[in-house]
Amino acid sequence: MRRFLATALWVILLTASARAELSARWIGVAGLILEDGETTLLFDPIFTRPGLLHWVGLKPLIPDLAAIEDNLKFLGLSKADGIFVSHEHFDHAVDAPWLAHHFKAGLYGGPSLEKIMRANRELYGWPIPKGVGAKNSAEKNLAQSVLFHSVADRADVTVGKFRIHFYRRDHAAIFPAINFHFLAGLVPENFQFGFYDYREGEVWCYRIEHPEGKIFIDQGSHFFEGAAEEVKGVDFMFAGVSNKASVSDFFEKYVGLFSPKILVPLHFDFFFSKANRGETKFLPGIELDQIRARIERDAPKTRFVLPGFGERVLLK
Ligand SMILES: [Zn+2]
Repeated sequence: MRRFLATALWVILLTASARAELSARWIGVAGLILEDGETTLLFDPIFTRPGLLHWVGLKPLIPDLAAIEDNLKFLGLSKADGIFVSHEHFDHAVDAPWLAHHFKAGLYGGPSLEKIMRANRELYGWPIPKGVGAKNSAEKNLAQSVLFHSVADRADVTVGKFRIHFYRRDHAAIFPAINFHFLAGLVPENFQFGFYDYREGEVWCYRIEHPEGKIFIDQGSHFFEGAAEEVKGVDFMFAGVSNKASVSDFFEKYVGLFSPKILVPLHFDFFFSKANRGETKFLPGIELDQIRARIERDAPKTRFVLPGFGERVLLK
């Protein structure tokens, strides 16, 4: 009987692990969900879209809670174990603290993200997490709120079966021809949701080890110091394409050097209007067809996958 129970338990465990496949879902702009059936990680999740009043600096940019809730429902996203922010431009950072609070997930980023998180804590009246900066026992007993993890270059953290390694890199110029950088510098100390205060901050990319394969997530679109080591042997690569200098620069000098099994572009949709969950509206001049053609011609071992909003991409 005992042996039967032990065998039955093994069968259940094996079935469960067979079902837990490593997958990714693109959720608009640079947002990405990585899941393995056990652990859910979010990278640069944003559902808030700025309007004209934000762009002209007349209205502070805070999370659009209706848009967030609507999208979470659409995605069936009911948990997150860790939230990672690659840098502090609004299109990467505006919703992350709110989502970290909502899911009671750790929030990972640099000092600039911490300033945005603190402003959110004040705005929404979230309690200080247990033990963090607590002055007395009453504060220590407050419920868990956003637990911020300050990350460091080449440090790593383990969440579930994911081991995430942080690498500090540079942000691409938005107009590479004239080397123009959008809102460079750090988020100001007195951050109060000013649209133009979502400055670049600290820029990170991630090498992630998982039993099912090696993943690389980079919002940049050009080679960086350390890439030869960091990206080497990667199975699944996610790369921002909005700031690439050219298709040949992106391919020949960066992704084409590494032959991942799967390459998924990020940051290709037109994010100046409301999120479009139907047919994707692309940023002008994004040249995804040329990237695909180049990969098919010169990197036949790499599969180029252009995801639709919320579509699951199996990583295998
Ligand atoms: Zn940016």
